[in-house]
Amino acid sequence: MQGFAQYADWFYLVGAILFILTLRGLSGPKTAIMGNRYGMMGMALAVLTTFFVAPSPVLGLIIGAMVAGAAIGIYRARTVPMTQMPETVAMMHSLVGLAAVAIAIAAVLHTGVKHDGIHRFELFVGCFVGAITFTASVFAYGKLAAKKWAKTVKGSWVKPTQAALFIAMLGFGTNYFVSEDLTAFYLMTAFALAFGYIWIAPIGGGDMPVVVSLLNSFSGWAAAGIGFTLNNSMLIIAGSLVGSSGAILSYVMCKAMNRSLMNVLFGGFGATATDTADSGEVKQKNYKSGSPEDAGFLMSNASSVIIVPGYGMAQGRAQNAVKELYNTLKAEGVNIRFAIHPVAGRMPGHMNVLLAEADVPYEDILEMDEINSDFSGTDVVLIIGANDVVNPAAKDDKSSPIYGMPILEAYKAQTVMVIKRSMSTGYAGLDNDLFYMDKTMMVFGDAKKVVEDMTKAINGTGH
Ligand code: NDP
Repeated sequence: MQGFAQYADWFYLVGAILFILTLRGLSGPKTAIMGNRYGMMGMALAVLTTFFVAPSPVLGLIIGAMVAGAAIGIYRARTVPMTQMPETVAMMHSLVGLAAVAIAIAAVLHTGVKHDGIHRFELFVGCFVGAITFTASVFAYGKLAAKKWAKTVKGSWVKPTQAALFIAMLGFGTNYFVSEDLTAFYLMTAFALAFGYIWIAPIGGGDMPVVVSLLNSFSGWAAAGIGFTLNNSMLIIAGSLVGSSGAILSYVMCKAMNRSLMNVLFGGFGATATDTADSGEVKQKNYKSGSPEDAGFLMSNASSVIIVPGYGMAQGRAQNAVKELYNTLKAEGVNIRFAIHPVAGRMPGHMNVLLAEADVPYEDILEMDEINSDFSGTDVVLIIGANDVVNPAAKDDKSSPIYGMPILEAYKAQTVMVIKRSMSTGYAGLDNDLFYMDKTMMVFGDAKKVVEDMTKAINGTGH
């Protein structure tokens, strides 16, 4: 092992290059599979290198942890439905945060090691970032999984409490840094844990995508902090890559929602919207509804169709049925494409993943910026289980909580058809005027069944 250790940095360097190639690969759907493979190779190299350079007394512990981690990971990967991916990701971020706290405490307790100023600074920052990531991610998990204990908190006490906890955390952290007092270190950790929870708790469900991506960034910085503590260059590099890519993703998502990060984190803006979500069915207004057969007829006679998928497509596992419909309309000579909103579904890229899984050609899947100007010249827009991402209130109702968020401009098409099961609101808990427009036809039912019936009708095999 000793001989191997001198080459460890070279192996870590190769691992770091593989991680950079991973990010590059993941930037486009065509290269994403290769990107994932690079990631697996990089991670295998990093784990094996660490395994061989570790001092022998802990090898048993490493093997035990690896076997347990791999068993849980394989089980979760095989069993978690795509619809529960966001909360699973939030849960995984919380584990990175917890690991950072555990390692910082272990390092502080390590007897016989004198921590110099820089080391104490790393421990203090790594520990509080990890602690905040841990409790904030646990709350984000609860919120996304709709757990009862993860209710949005509101009230005039929230902001002063956040400020007090933050100041206390920094105060005790500084105290530890100056005096090496362990009690101050533990108190800092406790305040950081409390701050993480109360920091995220007021944020509404509509803003959770940004929060999850920000926590992704935090988990990266926490891992980088662990890297400094353990003097492990691989962890520093990998953590920094995760930290910076998560920060960039948060920025891109804020831009897509026309919000500043500060406004998302401290504005409490999304809360109003979500808190009305429980009200479910909305007030009586007039709308038109039709059958899947009517809708199929309209689409087969159109020259252009845009499909807007949303969370309902994922919830109803309708992606393969949607691909069949796409094939059928394509065979009829219809110009058919997909329009993807950056926050459609419940995680970044949710719709892209599902459509890729169903083998929809990438060239017909267009992002909001690429397709928004085409809606006005389109005959039919078929909205499949989407709601917030096509809500015109975001454009023209200044009192709406989602005012200013860019939307897919489906309302500009000649005919709009919406598949959903009822007139219930979407994630943000808001009524949608698009559903009551003269040009709109609601097609009620579960997304998969309705899309299958539409395809049958177009093929002439329906009843
Ligand atoms: P929405 O949540 O706004 O609407 C989804 C609609 O799908 C609902 O109105 C629901 O209506 C319908 N639906 C649900 N299940 C089915 C089904 N089986 N068959 C047919 N319809 C169904 O989804 P959008 O994709 O439009 O918007 C995403 C929202 O989620 C945004 O507010 C976004 O901020 C938020 N979000 C996004 C995340 C991300 O990273 N992408 C993460 C977390 C939140 P009905 O019950 O009547 O069927």
